[in-house]
Amino acid sequence: MARPSLDPKGYYAVLGLTPAADTAAVKRAYRTRAKVLHPDRNPSPRAAEEFHALAEAYGVLRDAETRRAYDSGRLGARGPGGSTGGTARGGRAANPTPLGLRTCEVCGRTTLDLRYRVLHRVRGQGFKVVRAPIAGVFCRLHGERTVVAASLYCWALGWWALPWGPVATVAALARNLPGGDLPPTENYQLLTAQARAFLARGNLPIARRLVEQARRFARTPAERAHIAQLLETLAEQPAPRRPDRVRWFGPAQMAQIAPLLLMVTLAVYIVGPGRLIAPLLNRAADPTPIVRDQGPVSGRTQPAPTTQGPFTGQTEALPETGGRGGGSRPEVLGAGVLHAVQVESVTVRQAPSRNAPVVATLPRATVVTVLSVSADGGWSRILSARGVRGFVVSEALRPLATGAPRGP
Ligand SMILES: [Zn+2]
Repeated sequence: MARPSLDPKGYYAVLGLTPAADTAAVKRAYRTRAKVLHPDRNPSPRAAEEFHALAEAYGVLRDAETRRAYDSGRLGARGPGGSTGGTARGGRAANPTPLGLRTCEVCGRTTLDLRYRVLHRVRGQGFKVVRAPIAGVFCRLHGERTVVAASLYCWALGWWALPWGPVATVAALARNLPGGDLPPTENYQLLTAQARAFLARGNLPIARRLVEQARRFARTPAERAHIAQLLETLAEQPAPRRPDRVRWFGPAQMAQIAPLLLMVTLAVYIVGPGRLIAPLLNRAADPTPIVRDQGPVSGRTQPAPTTQGPFTGQTEALPETGGRGGGSRPEVLGAGVLHAVQVESVTVRQAPSRNAPVVATLPRATVVTVLSVSADGGWSRILSARGVRGFVVSEALRPLATGAPRGP
């Protein structure tokens, strides 16, 4: 593809050549294209126009004198039609040079995934929101890069208008996220023009794929009819195996939401991860009693000893003490199994015997759950809110709830 500066009116592009092509190549290219584009053979309503453009290009380039003038730029300023083949930044993707291939504004290449995109940028300025959209033809890669740049612009500058800055910013970010807007009219024109240019160059498979893409943007009956005609011309070409798929979430989307992730990270850092995560952990660890949970029940927050007895590993389902974390089973409270230590301290043992090994010592007012009582009523098997299990003498406990009295 010739750079626009070397091909001011796209004559070489019309012929599918670069300015380095020799005269024989110009003639060959003309004959090939003329066959395809001759209005008698090509049903496209644009064929006559395109054939004319081809003839105009050939008329200039076949003659050494006029071609030198064209190459030096002296011919570029006059003559009908014809702009440079490419850049319409901020404007419409109207017909450039007839049969000239459109190119990406950033890399200057012609690719199958060229699209006319509108990317949204907003800037807050006191009380007003300034909109500065970017529109242009981009390949997918540069479309994605441009949309990321546009979104970062919004992230940085969009919020600072009252009252609509944040609203406009969020709206612009949402519209940019899938890759900006693809206006159907402009994309229809772009893709059919590309298809015709490839058709003229004899690259029929590519032309067919471009027509298939253009079909998705055809809205009016005239546009649909034109697509049908082009497809008829290309009927012998195999249909594309699979439609040209577009990723709906890729690196470009990641990059656009990156500032959000950054803000969340900062928030966690500032507030402190513990405070944000602790409630989640508490919920996840629901079955495990937590020491602080005895506070609300007993009215005091004396901590129980940290010692955990050999029973801790057992997995039998146990009723829980009341409180924030474990208070989700009020029926246990009603059952009358909650007790508090009513002596200065009580020794928890591994077995209902004064000779059994000591598990822990619980201070006064520690809340425990009585799981069972020995036959003579002298020993209670208990579970403290902190997870201490074992046996204590029953007389060290007093019932907390108003439920059924414990008995043998
Ligand atoms: Zn590009």
